[in-house]
Amino acid sequence: MLLPTLADRADRVALRFESGSLTYAELAEAAGGTAAALAGAGRVAVWATPTAHTCVAVVGALAAGVPVVPINPKTGERELAHIVADSAPDLVLAEADVELPLALAGLPRVVAGPGPGALPEEPDPESPAVVVYTSGTTGPPKGVLLPRRAIATNLDALADAWDWTAEDTVVHALPLFHVHGLILGVLGPLRRGGTVWHLGRFDPAAVAAALAGSATVMFGVPTMYHRLAAECAVNADVARGVAQARLLVSGSAALPVVDHTSITATTGHRVVERYGMTETLMNCAVHSSAEPRPGTVGPAVDGVSVRLVDEAGTPVADGEIGEIEVRGPNLFLGYLNRPEATAEAFRDGWFRTGDVATRSADGWVRIVGRRATDLIKSGGYKIGAGEIENALLEHPDVVEAAVTGEPDDDLGERIVAWVVTGERRPSEQDLADHVARLLSPHKRPRVVHYLDALPRNELGKITKRALGA
Ligand code: ATP
Ligand code: MG
Repeated sequence: MLLPTLADRADRVALRFESGSLTYAELAEAAGGTAAALAGAGRVAVWATPTAHTCVAVVGALAAGVPVVPINPKTGERELAHIVADSAPDLVLAEADVELPLALAGLPRVVAGPGPGALPEEPDPESPAVVVYTSGTTGPPKGVLLPRRAIATNLDALADAWDWTAEDTVVHALPLFHVHGLILGVLGPLRRGGTVWHLGRFDPAAVAAALAGSATVMFGVPTMYHRLAAECAVNADVARGVAQARLLVSGSAALPVVDHTSITATTGHRVVERYGMTETLMNCAVHSSAEPRPGTVGPAVDGVSVRLVDEAGTPVADGEIGEIEVRGPNLFLGYLNRPEATAEAFRDGWFRTGDVATRSADGWVRIVGRRATDLIKSGGYKIGAGEIENALLEHPDVVEAAVTGEPDDDLGERIVAWVVTGERRPSEQDLADHVARLLSPHKRPRVVHYLDALPRNELGKITKRALGA
């Protein structure tokens, strides 16, 4: 069963939102009522606002065995039309007072909530539980069919890695239409029998207050840890609150080393990184008991096989850059309506992540970035954008940094830096010298663009496509 804890119908708090809390008993009743209203549906869209309604809707649909399509309420018209046409839901679950956009307004609408209706039998573990659209960082979002088996086994492996129990309250402010917020941040605590504490919106002081209170674990994306690090540096109360956490977990994009070390300096806490994808859930995770190594995402999650290969698919030696391929019970069933894309994503039974990394002799993975945008071939070297970004961020006047490659007659590709600076603007030469000094001369940027902000998507991921990469 995906959520055996619902059968307990206990008094423990399952969901805590600003609007109020639900115990497991109340959640089970609300999910049962929702499940009854969905009987016979083939697929159901959930208007995924950061509310308890979204959690009840998803849990109800899971109980009914109806695949859920969580929808980002901020999706633009064209993308929404694409997602609705692609996923073809029969119903939409949305709160009563929400005005739905045209693309969804024609569907029968159900408000999730209590009612007569028991929790039905648990469906087949191989059946799709959710259809989650990818972040669209590299192209139009693709619908990923995730089976119950992948969610259950991955959450259990993470629980082992992080000593995650029913005593834990996970605080976060993540959106509920991606794997991070919905599967790790909501289904994770619910599978354990613990509490989800959703803040509605991210605010460092609110996170610190929660961690000083009953919350034990924080889940966040790097942009949140960046803001938390900045606040901890100037506000001792916030730092003291964060210091009381049992565990701080970061994922969805690389956590800059400077933010990691800054949080450790002000709170004494280390941040545990994990690496995953919509298609695979989590592949690597630093264990809560391990000494983190900033800039790395830890070893493979238990039960997941991870290998690094060259372009021909041959495994590379320890320390060499290769593409990450994965196998295991964590894998998706395929992309919705895209059999060719699904077939292309696999090589000899291994899922090709499109991410490149190195691995230490003891199995810890260091992500370099995406093969398509973050691996720069310059002057005969393979250079990872992430390493240069981390070095640029160590410059006292650099606030944000992204690195890409562009064609160069002489070098093949040349390194281009895109930076947001503080009030003082370092020269191109200054930044090139800084990188050359920290890393090596061939890794210095040859061109620097100064921007007011980097283009980012909803999860704070830098969209390098928008930089022309
Ligand atoms: P799309 O597939 O639509 O282009 P996306 O790949 O960003 O978008 P997701 O499935 O949400 O969509 O994100 C997975 C990607 O996020 C991974 O392939 C990896 O590039 C990146 N990622 C996740 N966690 C980490 C991490 N800890 N460090 C570095 N990169 C990470
Ligand atoms: Mg992707």
